[in-house]
Amino acid sequence: MTTILQRTPTTQLCAPHIGRRLRPLALLAPLALLAACTSVPLPPWTPPSAQPAATPAPAPAPAAQRPAPPAAVQVSPVAPPALPSAPSASAAQADAGAPYSAAVAARFPAPAVIYNTPGLQAGRSAFTTQAEIQAWLREQAAAATRTPGVRAAVQAIGRSQRGEMLEALVLTRAGGTDPAVIQAAGKPTVLLVGQQHGDEPAGSEALLVIARELAQGLLQPVLERINVVIVPRANPDGSTIDQRATSGGLDMNRDHLLLNTPEAQALARLARDYKPTVVVDAHEYTVAGRFLQKFGAVQKFDALFQYATTANLPEFLTKAAEEWYRRPLLAALKGQNLSSEWYYTTSSDLADKKISMGGTQPDTSRNVNGLKNAVSLLIETRGVGIGRLHIQRRVHTQVTAITSVLASTAQRANELQQLRPYLDKDVAAQACKEQAVVEAGPTAAQYELMMLDPVTGADKAVNVDWDSALALRTLKARARPCGYWLSAASTVAVDRLRLHGVQVMRVAEQGSMLGDSYRETASTTGERQDARGAIADSNAIIKVQVSLARGVIDAPRGSYYVPLNQPMANLVMAALEPDTQSSFFANQILQGLQSTVRVMAEPSVKLEEL
Ligand SMILES: [Zn+2]
Repeated sequence: MTTILQRTPTTQLCAPHIGRRLRPLALLAPLALLAACTSVPLPPWTPPSAQPAATPAPAPAPAAQRPAPPAAVQVSPVAPPALPSAPSASAAQADAGAPYSAAVAARFPAPAVIYNTPGLQAGRSAFTTQAEIQAWLREQAAAATRTPGVRAAVQAIGRSQRGEMLEALVLTRAGGTDPAVIQAAGKPTVLLVGQQHGDEPAGSEALLVIARELAQGLLQPVLERINVVIVPRANPDGSTIDQRATSGGLDMNRDHLLLNTPEAQALARLARDYKPTVVVDAHEYTVAGRFLQKFGAVQKFDALFQYATTANLPEFLTKAAEEWYRRPLLAALKGQNLSSEWYYTTSSDLADKKISMGGTQPDTSRNVNGLKNAVSLLIETRGVGIGRLHIQRRVHTQVTAITSVLASTAQRANELQQLRPYLDKDVAAQACKEQAVVEAGPTAAQYELMMLDPVTGADKAVNVDWDSALALRTLKARARPCGYWLSAASTVAVDRLRLHGVQVMRVAEQGSMLGDSYRETASTTGERQDARGAIADSNAIIKVQVSLARGVIDAPRGSYYVPLNQPMANLVMAALEPDTQSSFFANQILQGLQSTVRVMAEPSVKLEEL
């Protein structure tokens, strides 16, 4: 790895005092320095190596080969293991329409475990159907509750654009499956989401496996320490027609701040209610396609991984993601002879050979859940564009990675329960103070990326321009306000904020506030962009440049105030600062720059709860 990849993201939390690079936790002597620049006491923080293991770390041994401690096993053996040294099935499939040779396929032998979800049955040509998922979840819920003390329920969380039921399986040892009961039990909750992109099936199939292992298999013991909420297929409409986007053409994984799609709304509601400490978003990435066209090479890595990388994330959140999750996860994959790399992608423009890590915009599940102070993890397997080729290995990769996340959460349950309130208070405590980043971007770097020769299957090193999301570049910063005033007409924006769990107050009696109003200095229209190019079927956005004008504003009765002394403050800023592509204003959820004012002193008007 080059040095650029050794960095962890910079943050804004007292960044001027601690320098621009994070230190490994074990070396983080100046904890007191961090503590000194916030008013919130720090939770105890133990480096992973010094932490006594409460549950076994994920072990590499394939379940079907030898017994292992419960949390260490990926799957209950359900069929005789395939011989890992016999890649003939893969090679045969490669001959039948794979985008590369049998020599490439031979580098991805089937795992020593056979997964048998409905869609993975021998002879099947279709992945698990929506009806089969619904039946499967109910079967697991019923099976789970046969274990004394375990509660399980399948919950309807919304409907897709074509009316398919979106469902979550909740598994817990709390007294019930309602969010309030689960939270009262004081254990961390993991939210697992699959197939936001309909043409990425391995995450969905893997989550069915994980559901069964939690309900009645070898992962049952982790429920002693954590709760798990599973949405195996977030985009059933796209899945039915093997399409990335939702049925209306919108990419739901760029909709997690705006919440224009019912699918993203359903996930936001779930996160609001269950307040997950950890969120896993399971995807697949393009194996050949535009990579083959640009680089004459096939992609190599079984898994690509990235945590939240967007502006204003609390430093400790990134530390937890890196040290408590990424490192054990990479070790677990390695133990299964599965290769991994940071997540990367490339645009659809064949002349553009830049490789970019996952984006820095606050629009994906990965970044938006980070702004909700959850450890937010993206896992991608090599699967887009290769149909069912290597599907057992792809599912095995997902199962291995997700099992590692569950084990890490169980192992760190107590610390995570301390970390979350610390983060929430820490973010809230920054209201009215110092600078906040309005927009950040990746940093340009060079990287030697390993790919595969499409004929020989040999490793092929490619030197690429590489946009790193691990070191954020501040593009725009402003004083952090105390809150935002919103006009009485801003009801759609208020509803979306509340769907995220943001506290919004209503002005109960007319008053005034000291604030900065936005003045337009330039405006055009355009498209939202990500590292892949224009975001699928997004409406035109308003790209505005602004200046600020300080003054006393009238706050009429019935207008709104969104305080920043709350845990979601950084998400609020991402939504309400108008001059970014992800903002509510740019995407016309807020109408007119005059609908929003940055409130720069604690308001003294009478406010009421909505
Ligand atoms: Zn995807």
